[in-house]
Amino acid sequence: MAHAMNGNAKARKNRAAKNKRQPSCICCKARSVRCRGLCEHCYKSALYQISIGKTTNDELEQNQLILPVKGSTAMRKAVEAIEAKRSL
Ligand SMILES: [Zn+2]
Repeated sequence: MAHAMNGNAKARKNRAAKNKRQPSCICCKARSVRCRGLCEHCYKSALYQISIGKTTNDELEQNQLILPVKGSTAMRKAVEAIEAKRSL
């Protein structure tokens, strides 16, 4: 009986620690990070700003509004495709 109670307390503590570690979005600082330091909403918004030519991926990275991509991802290729199309 005492054992079971200890187990539950430990599980609760682990869950709380996990939630605390989860970083929040570097832009809105409210929602949890989904991709590149941004929550899903801010990330989509950033991609939209890039797609309409309001900003560039490099500009966002320099202003630390988005984290640099580590390695090659489908999203990086997509962003590069947008930039290549714009510079034509
Ligand atoms: Zn956000």
